Amino acid sequence: MALDSMTLDIVATMVAALLGAMLLYFGRQENTPALRWWGAAYILGAVAIALWTLAADSYGEVVSLFLSSIGLIATAMVWNAARVFHGKSPSVPGLALGAIVWIASGMLLDPTAQALRLTIGAAIVVIYATLTATELWQERRRTLHKRWPAVIVPAMHGFVLMLPILLGNVLRDANGAFAAAWVTIFSIELVLYAVGTVFVIFMLVSERIVSAHKRAATTDPLTGLLNRRGFADASAQLIEREARAERPVSVLIFDIDHFKSINDRFGHAEGDEVLKLFAGVVVDKLRLTDLSGRIGGEEFAALLPCSIEEAMVAAERVRQAFAASGVVCEDKAVDTTVSIGVAGGPAGTDLDVLLAAADTALYKAKRSGRNRVEASAELPLSLERYRRQRAAAATAAPAPQSGHAALSS
Ligand code: GH3
Ligand code: MG
Ligand code: MG
Repeated sequence: MALDSMTLDIVATMVAALLGAMLLYFGRQENTPALRWWGAAYILGAVAIALWTLAADSYGEVVSLFLSSIGLIATAMVWNAARVFHGKSPSVPGLALGAIVWIASGMLLDPTAQALRLTIGAAIVVIYATLTATELWQERRRTLHKRWPAVIVPAMHGFVLMLPILLGNVLRDANGAFAAAWVTIFSIELVLYAVGTVFVIFMLVSERIVSAHKRAATTDPLTGLLNRRGFADASAQLIEREARAERPVSVLIFDIDHFKSINDRFGHAEGDEVLKLFAGVVVDKLRLTDLSGRIGGEEFAALLPCSIEEAMVAAERVRQAFAASGVVCEDKAVDTTVSIGVAGGPAGTDLDVLLAAADTALYKAKRSGRNRVEASAELPLSLERYRRQRAAAATAAPAPQSGHAALSS
């Protein structure tokens, strides 16, 4: 079956235009500037190929040069889209340089030096494809998924483009037969490249959207710490990892003392500032390997991969630092103290079990006068029993509210 290059060009034009429109549409939908860059590049590319295909023979040298340089600008836009996608600003000189070199070579070189001009044109596209691939490759560590398709697709495109140059002699010897075949191969590849690139783009964009949603769902917007769910998820992973190494784990529960009175005296906004300050103290005083999260209004928790003795030391560090933070509001010193309950367990102890034990210890700290660290005497034998005891204690004496039940409840 003979493939006619005019038909292939028309197909390439339609595919590029359709993909461009799709990218522009999703760029608007998702408010992603990189998608709009990619979309605009495709539309521009489609326009260039369409004008070229429709009446290439009737154009003069200058118009041909102009049309092909539009194609190069579109290629440069694909690279700029990758830059924008990674938060860089688009490179305007980079956008125009390829086209400028191409036009200059067209005007300065002898018209008989076709092979040289072809080489220069292909080299420009290969450079842009390499820049795009490098841009996408450099970012691979930030994501969970492998990025090889993002690199293979532009690399394949560059390779097909370079083929006539790599096989220069064969081309010349084959009396144009190879050249004709290559034009067909190139047209097919162009369509595959356009579709493949859009596949890669959507893969990257969806990966980013998913991770942004995930982050939003697991982070507390006020303090930037993990929220209840994020803390539970991350803790489960940490506990599992420590269990494999047979290392103990400990949990801290923090409850700011008389926080309601800070709100009452100075207002809710000031209360929020104290919460942010406390979150900062926790992050500052714990290790990078520890997990911390905001699990309630003025309640925080931390999971430490260490024994209860070490966790007590860390808790005391946080307590002292918060008490010494010296917050002044409306010329009055604000008492910033925190009560902390600590519990530790052998490797693999469930988070809920540790939290229940730490909560009992926190209750004790509140009852003993606040601004102190208490360790749990033992782990609850069962969570059921713990919950029954807590319910009984709450009905018997509606004393200090330390707080919360297990995270999964
Ligand atoms: P205790 O020493 O017994 O812990 O006393 P407390 O006043 O800290 O405890 P209580 O649980 O009675 O009060 C907690 C207060 O925290 C009540 C609630 O209005 C406030 N709170 C909860 N979430 C937020 C928040 O996001 N911002 C602010 N500013 N206040 C909050
Ligand atoms: Mg409190
Ligand atoms: Mg509380």
